[in-house]
Amino acid sequence: MFHTHRRPSRTLVTMSPALLADVRARFEANCRRSGTHLLWTGDLHRGAWPRISVDRRTWSAAAVAWVMSGRLYILGSRLWRRPGCPANCIEPRHRSVEAPRWSPRRRAAEQRRKSSATRRSAPNAASETSMPWAAKGTE
Ligand SMILES: [Zn+2]
Repeated sequence: MFHTHRRPSRTLVTMSPALLADVRARFEANCRRSGTHLLWTGDLHRGAWPRISVDRRTWSAAAVAWVMSGRLYILGSRLWRRPGCPANCIEPRHRSVEAPRWSPRRRAAEQRRKSSATRRSAPNAASETSMPWAAKGTE
């Protein structure tokens, strides 16, 4: 079944080659392989959210890893961790834009977030302008 409510046009996050090269060096300096996991050894916001500064903005390191791996990243989408991954695992193959079925609590939280978002007016315009390096594109 498809949702019939209207969606705002989706914003794809991309990086220019120059920025990518700059970020990749700092990114790799803060990563450590552990088995199949890619562990973030840099800034952990509240001990749980890997972060990296890009163009003087704070970004989710998982989202940056996702973009650098060549995956399409829609601005604002959440990258769910696989069960069994440490909190600082940012391996793109261990992340999914779909909430995992194994966690009904997380799913419920996501549902609440979505329904409260539809009650508010679109917050997307503000977040787009806060990321000057993010090129806009629509699918
Ligand atoms: Zn992992």
